Amino acid sequence: MKTYNIGVIAGDGIGPEVTHEALKVLHAVKHGFDYNFVEYPYSGAHYLKTKELVPDKVIDEWKTLDAILLGAIGHPAVEVGLVERSVILGLRFGLDLYINLRPIKLYAENLCPLKGKTPKDIDIAVVRENTEGEYAQIGGILKKGMPDEVATSTSIYTRVGVERTIRYAFELARSRAKVNNKPGHLTLVDKANAIRPQEIWTRVFAEVGKEYPDIQQDHAYVDAFAMLMIQQPESYDTIVTTNLYGDILTDLGATLQGGIGIAASANLHPGKTSMFEPIHGSAPDIAGQGIACPLAAILAAGMALDYLGEQDAAQRIESSVAHLLASGRIPALDSKSGLNTSQMGDMVVEQIRM
Ligand code: ATP
Repeated sequence: MKTYNIGVIAGDGIGPEVTHEALKVLHAVKHGFDYNFVEYPYSGAHYLKTKELVPDKVIDEWKTLDAILLGAIGHPAVEVGLVERSVILGLRFGLDLYINLRPIKLYAENLCPLKGKTPKDIDIAVVRENTEGEYAQIGGILKKGMPDEVATSTSIYTRVGVERTIRYAFELARSRAKVNNKPGHLTLVDKANAIRPQEIWTRVFAEVGKEYPDIQQDHAYVDAFAMLMIQQPESYDTIVTTNLYGDILTDLGATLQGGIGIAASANLHPGKTSMFEPIHGSAPDIAGQGIACPLAAILAAGMALDYLGEQDAAQRIESSVAHLLASGRIPALDSKSGLNTSQMGDMVVEQIRM
């Protein structure tokens, strides 16, 4: 029997609460395979106690795992960004997780803030480049606090980085076409009219696109695309975009799905150890109250199983969540649902066992 070695970094705030539910669901869905969970303490709370950030040798250890589940990192008493950089960037750069995959899928009409949109209208996969672009951390501040202070930030788009992301997106569009039994469609989103170096995206997209004549290919500038996502989300299937635009558009996408409590993501290096997480943060305002929605963390665990090749188990998680939402048994993603974190987790487990 196959045993998957899965790292678990539950983190801070609501991270451990939602991760606990995701692990319950993973146990419920296993059939013909097993897990060996390896827990890691790295978080703001751990830093406050020990002053420890992620050591290099741990990043090497992560590379030997099959997958990693992350809850959320961020503690109000720790300098903003310190532990986040160590854990999240440690994972992203240490494991070269160059794809951020964000499904934007509506599971129940009542969750969508748009009038008249139903689940068949909103099913978009956003492929965000995850290690370069505007977040390459190149830049700095000169003469801080002086009247002539200067701040610079340089965006990086490498040929290798752009091409591997676009290639992944074309492959994904092709596999979604097969699964959904409809023509493949990939949209490049950039701002190459104003930021001319982004023309590398336009050029590589056209070049790689020649290898995918079966995929309908189009393009939108990011400002117009933000509008189109609201006006006509049904016109899009797979999106490929830069790190910053992907970050912004996927928060917009989370809102179309019903909110941050249901938005899951995968940070991938196809073929190697990859990481799966809810897109929300540690939410200190609701931590410890048992009211966080665990569905994003549960769906992220499902994405991990899909990535590991356990499609049946992954599908059972997603369809159970979809059923509970569509039937109104989970009527909302926040406290209006009248359900607490563990009740929602238990309902998903029960649904899986039905
Ligand atoms: P970050 O800065 O890392 O994004 P944050 O804690 O400031 O972290 P988020 O956690 O992303 O911000 O979320 C903002 C707000 O959304 C939270 O303060 C919380 O009220 C709400 N929220 C986030 N996640 C959930 C969830 N799983 N269930 C319910 N509400 C949530």
